[in-house]
Amino acid sequence: MPIFEYKCSDCGELFEELVGSASETVCCPGCKSESVEKLLSAAAVSVSSSTGPNCVPSACPQGGT
Ligand SMILES: [Zn+2]
Repeated sequence: MPIFEYKCSDCGELFEELVGSASETVCCPGCKSESVEKLLSAAAVSVSSSTGPNCVPSACPQGGT
């Protein structure tokens, strides 16, 4: 399973989370906020169906080449 890196939009906490499914909800370990951004690391290249409310364009490329 891939480990994704996240950044909390509320407190700016950076943390890593082991994610089993794309729809899994990730909370900030610091403030428990669900307003987290998934940061694209070198290992995370096949994100295809993440259309959550916190999805920002720069973090979620729409399948372009
Ligand atoms: Zn936080």
